[in-house]
Amino acid sequence: MSECRICFNCEKGALVTPCRCSGTIKHIHQRCLTRWLKEKYPSEYTMLLRQKNQTKNTGLHCELCNYEFKANAKYLKPLQIFKKIGNSNVTYGVLLNIPIIVFLAYKFNSLLRHLFLFIYDQTIYSHKNHLISKKIIGALKLYIGIVAKLFPISIVAAVLPMIIYRTLALTCKLFTEFKVLQIENLM
Ligand SMILES: [Zn+2]
Ligand SMILES: [Zn+2]
Repeated sequence: MSECRICFNCEKGALVTPCRCSGTIKHIHQRCLTRWLKEKYPSEYTMLLRQKNQTKNTGLHCELCNYEFKANAKYLKPLQIFKKIGNSNVTYGVLLNIPIIVFLAYKFNSLLRHLFLFIYDQTIYSHKNHLISKKIIGALKLYIGIVAKLFPISIVAAVLPMIIYRTLALTCKLFTEFKVLQIENLM
C-alpha cells in the first residue's frame, strides 16, 4: 500500500505523483503538498493563485528531484469555502470590516455634524445680546452655516476612498483566500 511521503498516512485523501520521484516517496497527498509549497514558497504560491490562466512555469520545485511542479489555480468548492469561512480570521476580518467602516463613518459623521451645529447655535446665541455689528454676525452665520453643511460631505469624501480601497484590497485577498493550487499528476 502506497503512503504519502509527508504525513505517512495512506488513507486520508487521494494520492498524486506530482514529480519524477520514484519508489516509496513518489506518492503525496494533494493537500499535504500544497500545504508544504505554501510554506516553502509563500510569495510564489500567492502569485500563482492570482493568475487566471493555467500556469506552466510555477517556480515550485520538488526538494528531492528538483522537478518543477505543474499547477493550476482552482476555486474551492462551495462547501470548502463555507468551511474555510468558519476557520479563517481573514475572512471574518473582511466580512466585518466593511460594515464597521460604514458604521464608524456614519457615527463619526453625525457626531461631528451635531458638534458643529452645537457650536453654531452657541455662537449665534451668545452673541445675540452683545453689541457686535450685524454684519459680523451675518458673516459668521454664513461661514458656520457653510462649514456645517459641507463638513459631513468632506468626511464622507475622506472616508469613501478608504472604504473603496479597503473593500478592493480585501476582495483581492478573498479571491486568493478561496483558491487553491491544484498540482498536476504526472501519472
Ligand atoms: Zn499526506
Ligand atoms: Zn520529486
